[in-house]
Amino acid sequence: MSAVTAGMVCSHHHLYSALARGMPAPPRQPTRFLEILEQVWWRLDVALDEEMIRWSAMLGAVEALQSGTTAIVDHHESPSAIDGSLSIIAEACAEVGVRTNLAYGVTDRHGPDGARRGLAENERFLRGGGRGMVGVHAAFTCSDHTLSAAAALAADCGVGVHIHVAEGPDDADAGMRLDALARDDWWLVHCVYLDRDLPGTIAHNPRSNMNNGVGYARPASRPNRVALGTDGIGADMLEEARLAYVRLREDDVLASPDTVWQWLENGYVLFPEARDDRVTWSYDHADSGWHVVFTPGIRALQVEVDGEVLLHDGRPTRVDVDEVRAKAAEQARRLFTRL
Ligand SMILES: [Zn+2]
Repeated sequence: MSAVTAGMVCSHHHLYSALARGMPAPPRQPTRFLEILEQVWWRLDVALDEEMIRWSAMLGAVEALQSGTTAIVDHHESPSAIDGSLSIIAEACAEVGVRTNLAYGVTDRHGPDGARRGLAENERFLRGGGRGMVGVHAAFTCSDHTLSAAAALAADCGVGVHIHVAEGPDDADAGMRLDALARDDWWLVHCVYLDRDLPGTIAHNPRSNMNNGVGYARPASRPNRVALGTDGIGADMLEEARLAYVRLREDDVLASPDTVWQWLENGYVLFPEARDDRVTWSYDHADSGWHVVFTPGIRALQVEVDGEVLLHDGRPTRVDVDEVRAKAAEQARRLFTRL
């Protein structure tokens, strides 16, 4: 039993949502999942510019580090600032010291030109040596042509596709649309309404699914490898694991904390080197799932990556956390004004 673990991996994040907290209420009350997308997230992402992307990523990375998370699988969309956006996120996170696997969420929501530019951003980033996957928003916002193009680009770049799959009822035919395309290296997010098994890793985000009222994904009932993400609600993986555990137990009272602990472990598929990161926690059994799921409030005190202390006494060492919060708050104000 130990207070020291490897670095945590957040297996599905949207760093830009760091600025969304406290955003103005939408003009109409969303009553179902598609309306939440239309009235909250699709109004927000179209308003993002480069400075907002930079400071939301910086704040998201700082908060990840403060939660003992040293690696983030991010899914990004900023339809008004596509070109170069993945590099902005990569640089901001690298400055803090957090590892990233990035993808731009391609979609036909903004016409064929928007989809083409999204694909081009994935290609530019990956071929330039960036670490990531080819992002797709979701099958239900893409034509078959765009889905095929994304799959082909990913195969050509030797990476998977990072895509939301059947998160809500509006995407219930995702299984049929992706059946002939999906491969073992795909990153399938949510899979709540998926009507068949697809090859790939399932990124499970229980808090987000509950928040959107879409139902329980029952990831343990699938044959796939399952990894745990937050879908943009921070990057505190012990917190997400606790919630994942009680949601799992609500569905199956025979389920064990070991299952959820394995979901955390599975993030190392994309970041094997994060196993060597060292996180010292405020609790002396932080390396045991059986302790962690019943122990709220465990804090990361120190984080070491490649021998460098990146978090000391709970504060990041490379950047000034107060300055990052102030800059991000300034960008949040700009964003809210646009909304
Ligand atoms: Zn997501």
